[in-house]
Amino acid sequence: MALRELIELSRFYGRREEFVIAGGGNTSYKDEADLFIKASGTSLAELSEAGMVRMRRDRLKAIWSRSYDRNPDKREAQALSDLLEARVEGETKRPSVETLLHDLLRQPYVVHTHPSLVNGLTCGRRGEKIAAELFPERMLWIPVVNPGYILARTVKEAIERNLTHGAYPSILFLQNHGVFVAADSPEEVRAIYGRLMANLESRLTRRPDMTALAPVDSELVETLSKVIDRLLGPKEAAQGAPGGPACAFVLNRAIAHLVASRRSFAPLRSLSYTPDHIVYCGHEPAWVRHGRPRVAKGASPAELRAAESASLSAEAARAIEAYRARNGHPPRVVAVEGVGLFVWGESPAKLASARAMLLDAVRVAIYSESFGGPRHMPDDKRDFIRGWEVEQYRAKVNAQGAS
Ligand SMILES: [Zn+2]
Repeated sequence: MALRELIELSRFYGRREEFVIAGGGNTSYKDEADLFIKASGTSLAELSEAGMVRMRRDRLKAIWSRSYDRNPDKREAQALSDLLEARVEGETKRPSVETLLHDLLRQPYVVHTHPSLVNGLTCGRRGEKIAAELFPERMLWIPVVNPGYILARTVKEAIERNLTHGAYPSILFLQNHGVFVAADSPEEVRAIYGRLMANLESRLTRRPDMTALAPVDSELVETLSKVIDRLLGPKEAAQGAPGGPACAFVLNRAIAHLVASRRSFAPLRSLSYTPDHIVYCGHEPAWVRHGRPRVAKGASPAELRAAESASLSAEAARAIEAYRARNGHPPRVVAVEGVGLFVWGESPAKLASARAMLLDAVRVAIYSESFGGPRHMPDDKRDFIRGWEVEQYRAKVNAQGAS
């Protein structure tokens, strides 16, 4: 019964774009003995009993008495191995990496999401202070930390500290990440989320205007799409993702304002709002300056447009090459001054996720204005995620070279 309720609750949030972007987030239900958690790689929107992993809570608790290697890679591997050992016999699916965190919360129902509005707060310079004003009770703010075991341990310590002068938290804000809501019933989860979103809404001074816009010059956009796709495509396409690489142009009112100049683009110069943004969109976009093309006096409008197109294409090539040289991998997002954003994926499915996450970054950037202005992940935390991504990329490329 409780599991069925959890599945219904998970689908409710999983199917709402304001809560779940590109399949992120996870949910759990626990009793005294067991924790049922969403398996890694399954979506909340389509969750069924087959997508849950049953964990033994005594074994999860035993993890806290273990000591792990100081080396982060070894430590995470050891913690993951213990996490897999904590599954009930016969379970084969991989539990979410945030399982330990779910187990730490006392309440039976836990729904963890990364909504754009919430991340406007968690990525806002005054986020912690405003969170304390808006949610004076049963709220914990967790400063940005590396994901995995370290995050869970940080939360454990924060809960224990808090217990001395308060009750168990029902809202856990994770800086530059998202929110956990914990409650005794599904109704209570919905009520807390409802209050939470309404409170955040009440503090907004500006909302992102996501009204789609047609490009000012659709021929130019088509040319640039081809140029960018060619520059990013061939090396990645060799990896054989189904459907082949794809590039999309993204423009709406909020983006038009952001790409107007290098200065107005400041909130998106880094995309490192949360780990998801880094994973799906890369840590920063390549920026293509819109220089003034050289044309002879008295050139016709057609000649002007051709010159502009050629100059922007050359500038895009330069920007992408410079990005690749600096980072060791190509960008996923290319911002063209005065034109819009281009986003790229190895396959149509990857493109769809990257595009959704890019639009989320735009919303987070604008929402964060109401919470003290944007605050990206600190460089060391960003590089922890990036390092992992770069390794993945190298591994993929190397595997390709070997085959
Ligand atoms: Zn998360």
